[in-house]
Amino acid sequence: MAAAAGPLAAELDLEVDTALELLRCNRWDALAVRLGVRQHGLAAFRRRCRTMQEGEGEDECAVCFEDAPLLRLGCGHDACAECWTGHLRAPLEAGDRAAATRLTCIDGDCDVPVGSDVFERLLGAAAEGGGDAELLDKYRKWAREEWVREARDDRRFAACPADGCDRVVAFDRRLMSVQCACGHQFCTNLACGREAHAPLPCILFQKWRMLEDKNKGRGHGLSPEMAALMTKLCPNCRTPSDKPEGCNYVVCGMCRHSWCWDCGTHNSTPAGVCH
Ligand SMILES: [Zn+2]
Ligand SMILES: [Zn+2]
Ligand SMILES: [Zn+2]
Ligand SMILES: [Zn+2]
Ligand SMILES: [Zn+2]
Ligand SMILES: [Zn+2]
Repeated sequence: MAAAAGPLAAELDLEVDTALELLRCNRWDALAVRLGVRQHGLAAFRRRCRTMQEGEGEDECAVCFEDAPLLRLGCGHDACAECWTGHLRAPLEAGDRAAATRLTCIDGDCDVPVGSDVFERLLGAAAEGGGDAELLDKYRKWAREEWVREARDDRRFAACPADGCDRVVAFDRRLMSVQCACGHQFCTNLACGREAHAPLPCILFQKWRMLEDKNKGRGHGLSPEMAALMTKLCPNCRTPSDKPEGCNYVVCGMCRHSWCWDCGTHNSTPAGVCH
């Protein structure tokens, strides 16, 4: 589902977080979001589908039947601020992550999602009076983790690994590295997740980092290029192999093909072709 957010963000020139938010509250209908933004403009469309509207004067709350100023969700269902806040707090207090991050309308039959803006507004407002800042933090953390989890499905998003940065970044899978808005550049192979190291493949970069760590204190780190020289790919299966000590005889750890480190073009034997 989140797969639609990357292209949509690029197409409409949105932050990925915004695209995800719009998709979420439009039940993952990318076409509806595309049309909505084109038709109404981003700000107006966002207000339409996300923001809680305040009613005029007081009315009877459909949940607690008290007369109070009502807040109305995009779907048209309304309740008093106290009831809405209780609705938001319940899954957070119960520790129910799925229910909190996929919370729907206070009307039990309505499946319109309650967006993060509603949490920000109601728990944030309550926090001014004290008490809910902690719950809001919990919600923010969970929501972000959910996005990242959804994002992992198609590997087109990544949480920026920089310290203190909580952005989710969209990237083109064909590129080896991506730059976050915070300036940090990192590898698009999420299994690697290290700082950007193109054009060196992940495995060589990791090897270089290991060698560099080993050489710390001896005053001469190996450059990535040097590390690349110390590793060659098996001519048979392309698995990286280390430079053998002394002679040029290499047996691939993966396919057992034996080859000559020096020229790499022929089979070799320990006795035969050491150059
Ligand atoms: Zn109420
Ligand atoms: Zn509703
Ligand atoms: Zn960042
Ligand atoms: Zn990498
Ligand atoms: Zn091999
Ligand atoms: Zn040779």
